[in-house]
Amino acid sequence: MITTQNLTKSYKGHLALDDVTLTFNEGMVGLLGPNGAGKTTFLRVMATLQKPTSGSASIFGVPLSQPEEVRRQIGYLPQHFSVYPQLTGREFLDYVGVLKGIHAAKARQEEIERILDQVNLTDKADKKVRTYSGGMRQRLGIAQALLGSPKMLIVDEPTAGLDPEERVRFRNILTRFSVGRIVLLSTHIVADIESNCRQIAVLSRGQLVLSGNLSDLADVGDGKVWQAVLN
Ligand code: ATP
Repeated sequence: MITTQNLTKSYKGHLALDDVTLTFNEGMVGLLGPNGAGKTTFLRVMATLQKPTSGSASIFGVPLSQPEEVRRQIGYLPQHFSVYPQLTGREFLDYVGVLKGIHAAKARQEEIERILDQVNLTDKADKKVRTYSGGMRQRLGIAQALLGSPKMLIVDEPTAGLDPEERVRFRNILTRFSVGRIVLLSTHIVADIESNCRQIAVLSRGQLVLSGNLSDLADVGDGKVWQAVLN
């Protein structure tokens, strides 16, 4: 479960997040809003990469004020994910695995093989990342986020720029993960929300303007209220 209480983030007086209070249960959560609404700021605060200016939040009961403990629970795929193109996919994951503190080589290798299979990259794992398509890079991105067995994934517009087939493939990976866990997904893509998310939150100018179960919100304004913010 995620909860935030009056979460606020200000950049030199500019309120990127303004008093956001919400609760999410397990499953996939869609975070929506126009450009500049504060989505990335929200995700970065939840990933403990930025400190809130005021307010509080917790992930599975662990407050953000304990960042080391929070980081053990989460995997993060940033909006602009970059990889070392000269490494192979497997080498890259090995490198991230060490950074995440999975020091026992055998355990790390076993975990990497399991994740490569989950993201359908096993047969490409020994190819250099520079030869990967955009979709394969994003799947490698989600693979590095899965290392360390997180209970929650935080993913920032992961399907932007992917073709429809890759989008479906990516969504399926997130859906499988989200069972009994949480995926916090920022997106502009209606299909990402409609096919995956049980819950949504809509931000506008840093403020929470709508949140709840998608099924409850489907009838609000002919179901167009939440879609309007995507345009
Ligand atoms: P997008 O969909 O374009 O990625 P977003 O909803 O993710 O937008 P944020 O990137 O969180 O929005 O930005 C929210 C507001 O905070 C914007 O007005 C942005 O210009 C501002 N902002 C974000 N990061 C910083 C920063 N490091 N310093 C100053 N202002 C920032």
